[in-house]
Amino acid sequence: MRMADIDVVKGLLHVYSRINAVCSNRGLNYKPRLVAVGKTKPKEMIIACYEHGQRGFGENYIQELVDKSTDPEVLEKCADIKWHFIGSIQRNKVPKLVSVPNLDVVETISSEKVAAAVNSAWEKLKKSDPLKVMVQVNTSREEEKGGVEVEHCSELVKYVLKSCPALKFIGLMTIGKYGYDPSDGPNPDFMALKSCRETVCNDLELQENEVELSMGMSTDFEQAIELGSTSVRVGTTIFGYREKKEPAAFTG
Ligand SMILES: *Cc1c(COP(=O)(O)O)cnc(C)c1O
Repeated sequence: MRMADIDVVKGLLHVYSRINAVCSNRGLNYKPRLVAVGKTKPKEMIIACYEHGQRGFGENYIQELVDKSTDPEVLEKCADIKWHFIGSIQRNKVPKLVSVPNLDVVETISSEKVAAAVNSAWEKLKKSDPLKVMVQVNTSREEEKGGVEVEHCSELVKYVLKSCPALKFIGLMTIGKYGYDPSDGPNPDFMALKSCRETVCNDLELQENEVELSMGMSTDFEQAIELGSTSVRVGTTIFGYREKKEPAAFTG
């Protein structure tokens, strides 16, 4: 293993121990999932984490996810990898997205149009299982953040449940405002996502324990777990700092 890969494993094990500490301090009877976000990072780092037991990996660019997930070495060494897509979805790229081997969860369903496109693309593949999806909620009401408005969350979840038979709704996801200082109190985005779940469960007669909350990143995953997160998405704390992508990459 190269030095960089060893650091990554250190980072991974450190995050595991921090997650375990929160769970035991709070007496949680479930273990939140860790999605390791390796965007912009080389496949060797992904493989190193996989070899230390990590299974969930997140990517937010469709092309990068396609490249990594179809890499022969990744396919061979990471047979049971579980890819989470956590980026914005352009409808013309949906066929590419659903073709990803070992695609486990698409976390960023943000409109009926996107839901319908993913549903019909998955139907065409004639898989035996539905594709797991989350509905992304724009809890911070920032224009540049994706996700459905809080007020329309139930409506979109209902659409997925009733009109997308190839999709299995498993939870809600938010990114939230960057730079919130957890020492200022409970993060309002996390509280908002939790209250969204209450509303959705009331409106659609679902059980709260059937609806996951994907929230929490490098700077705040511990607080997110304390506030009910069942799935944290951690990049920098495991993989180290990322080079900023060229602006053009955000559109493509
Ligand atoms: C990059 C990214 C993360 C991880 O961010 P870090 O701050 O590096 O932990 C989590 N969620 C989404 C949607 C991302 O794009």
